[in-house]
Amino acid sequence: MSLLTSASAASRWRGYEYFKEGRVSALEDLGSSRFRALVAGHQSRPYAVTIDLAHLRQSSCTCPHAAGRKVICKHMVAVFFTVFPEEAARFYADVLREEQEWEEAQADRADKLIQYVRRLKKKDAQDRLLEVLEIGPDWLWDRFLRDYVE
Ligand SMILES: [Zn+2]
Repeated sequence: MSLLTSASAASRWRGYEYFKEGRVSALEDLGSSRFRALVAGHQSRPYAVTIDLAHLRQSSCTCPHAAGRKVICKHMVAVFFTVFPEEAARFYADVLREEQEWEEAQADRADKLIQYVRRLKKKDAQDRLLEVLEIGPDWLWDRFLRDYVE
C-alpha cells in the first residue's frame, strides 16, 4: 500500500492543495524512506509531520485528525507531494482525466435520454410526463399548471 492509496480521496485532494499552496516547510530527509516537515494548517502553529514510506503506520502528524490515530492525513499527503513532485503532477493529471471521463459519460447519457424522449409515442410520452410531475418537486407541478394549464 502506498501513502496515497492509504489516504482518503478528500485527504489526497486537500493534501495536493496544501502542497500547491506551499504550506510545507523545513523538509528533512531522515533516511530509510522517512521524511519530516512542518505543514501550515488552520492553527497558528504549524503541524509537525513525519512520513515513513516503508512503515506507513509509523507516520505521524500533530493535527487533531491524525494525532494518536493510524490514519494518513492531508498534511502527510502534502509532505509526500513535496518530496515527490512528479507524483503530484501525476495525481493532478489523473484527477483531470477522471473529470473529463465523467463529463463525457454524462454527455453520452444526456444524448441517450434525448434520443429516447424523441422516439416516444404520444401515449407513452403522456404517461412519462405524468410520472415526472407525480414524483418531481412541488414547484415543478405548480409551474407546469401555471405555465400550461391555468
Ligand atoms: Zn495532519
